[in-house]
Amino acid sequence: MTLDQAQQSPSLAARLSAIDTRIADAARLAGRDPAEITRIVVTKFHPASLVRELHELGVREVGENRQQELTSKQGELAELDLRWHFIGQAQTNKAASIRRSADVVHSLDRDRLADALDRVADSDDVLDVLVQINLTDDEGRGGVSPADAPALAEHVLSLPSLRLRGVMAVAPLDEEPASAFARLHDVAESVRGLAPDATWISAGMTGDFVEAIAAGATHLRIGSAITGPRPDRG
Ligand SMILES: *Cc1c(COP(=O)(O)O)cnc(C)c1O
Repeated sequence: MTLDQAQQSPSLAARLSAIDTRIADAARLAGRDPAEITRIVVTKFHPASLVRELHELGVREVGENRQQELTSKQGELAELDLRWHFIGQAQTNKAASIRRSADVVHSLDRDRLADALDRVADSDDVLDVLVQINLTDDEGRGGVSPADAPALAEHVLSLPSLRLRGVMAVAPLDEEPASAFARLHDVAESVRGLAPDATWISAGMTGDFVEAIAAGATHLRIGSAITGPRPDRG
């Protein structure tokens, strides 16, 4: 362990446990069981060594938003029992690489990406996916509109190598997260009407996970509050 890591580890552990306490408090406040909430640590821009430290602290669910970084860290840490969540915009021509490295893809936002991920599947391999919902009015943002979500969900359901687990969203910058997450909850209900097993709601980041928990989030994607500020890159 380098001196740097030795100095960093206690604070990483402290930040992780502080967040877990806040998650548990928010869950109880919302009348929910903290055990039904999965905390994914977003490690983008941080080195694989940080993911290894997190693993030593008991973290098993990690998130990355860029395919190359996902592929390289997952490759380096392949011997660890980690679940890799891909949470970034996905290029169709990177579907094979994403599928090889990710256990869950949160950012499925179009039929063509679903088709591409399905096409590269090994025979009996099933990939967990979430349909990403765009909660803004800006069509350039990632995700499908709430109105188009059921059609995309139906398409995913027609592809045997994809398992639809639910929905994912990022709260808009110009709106209270609570009202945005309330809309997401409605979309989640309509998707669950098509696929009863699609129960996941991936929502909530460092700045809004309390509101996400109140609105029924099952999977939180928390980065900087746990890892510290991201190294200045990309
Ligand atoms: C970076 C990122 C997060 C985590 O953000 P923090 O504010 O650092 O917690 C969550 N979701 C997505 C899609 C991200 O890109």
